Amino acid sequence: MVTLLYFLFWVVRETWGLSGKRVQDYTLYTGALGTAYLVFNAYQVTKNENDLKLCSDIVKACDSASKDSGRVTFICGRAGICALGAVIAKHSGDARLQDHYLTKFKEIRFPSDLPNELLYGRAGFLWACSFLNKHIGKETLSTIRMRAVVDEIIKSGRRLAGKGTCPLMYEWHGKKYWGAAHGLAGIMHVLMDMELKPDEVEDVKGTLRYMIKSRYPTGNYPSSEGSESDRLVHWCHGAPGVTLTLVKAAEVFGDKEFLQAAVDAGEVVWKRGLLKRVGICHGISGNAYVFLSLYRLTGKVEYLYRAKAFASFLSDRAQKLISERKMHGGDHPYSLFEGMGGMAYLFLDMGEPSKARFPAYEI
Ligand SMILES: [Zn+2]
Repeated sequence: MVTLLYFLFWVVRETWGLSGKRVQDYTLYTGALGTAYLVFNAYQVTKNENDLKLCSDIVKACDSASKDSGRVTFICGRAGICALGAVIAKHSGDARLQDHYLTKFKEIRFPSDLPNELLYGRAGFLWACSFLNKHIGKETLSTIRMRAVVDEIIKSGRRLAGKGTCPLMYEWHGKKYWGAAHGLAGIMHVLMDMELKPDEVEDVKGTLRYMIKSRYPTGNYPSSEGSESDRLVHWCHGAPGVTLTLVKAAEVFGDKEFLQAAVDAGEVVWKRGLLKRVGICHGISGNAYVFLSLYRLTGKVEYLYRAKAFASFLSDRAQKLISERKMHGGDHPYSLFEGMGGMAYLFLDMGEPSKARFPAYEI
């Protein structure tokens, strides 16, 4: 508990307190919104009104800093700011502020060249809709609005897949990525939260089966279509992000093949996932969530032990190893996705592991 409070205090001080409360990077990924999301997670445990006020102040500053941004997603764009702002306003009992953020959310317009992936594309916008509907109420974002986006994602996936063996395929910056951040795993994960038509369900299942069939002999997953470099075991690229998607598939569809594939991918994360970074995107904290997710799915306590092993490694040794340059502190060392913010988020979640969710990804 002391370690957790220490890290929380440190993250808030470095990303907010010392900035003069002016925001440059407003994103949840590496910027101030990530700190607000972390503090909101703390509030849900502590119910401390000061935490809520702090979240609200940070989101307000992110709102001003992102006014002219054309980004539309939860993790890197306006949808995250407006959605989190509305949910925090609801908890504060401020109906006027909640309306303000919801109106702004509904004013978000898509650029014509919008990709489909999670960090910058349609899937990342849809995730924000799910977040709002979960925390504020069903139909806060109408099914019709969300359906239009799902239609675009499915149409574009079928178009690129063509007559290939995978029913849906997507590109980001000219590459057919498979991971959670930019590729198939992230897009399928978000689609499974939507109300899909039977043929769309078959396409999502078919895409996951294609990925399982085409994984490396080691059990790890390629970062992009056809890649032969079995190197990355990250949430963003490789088995960890895919495991979370397969866990979701097992939960949603109930098929044994997805459960088995999730368990197999989890083994890769256990063997190769103790990385040299701390964050959730491509670090140990993110990989710990794989075990928490498998624990939730299977109830097997060995997954809880594995999550605890990764979390204990971080709390006991990360700071020392970073100071000795044996671990990398992250390009944004206090951020939610790359740095200590993610570690603090994990420590908070370890307090009630069955409720743990990979931040801004598992709803
Ligand atoms: Zn990453």
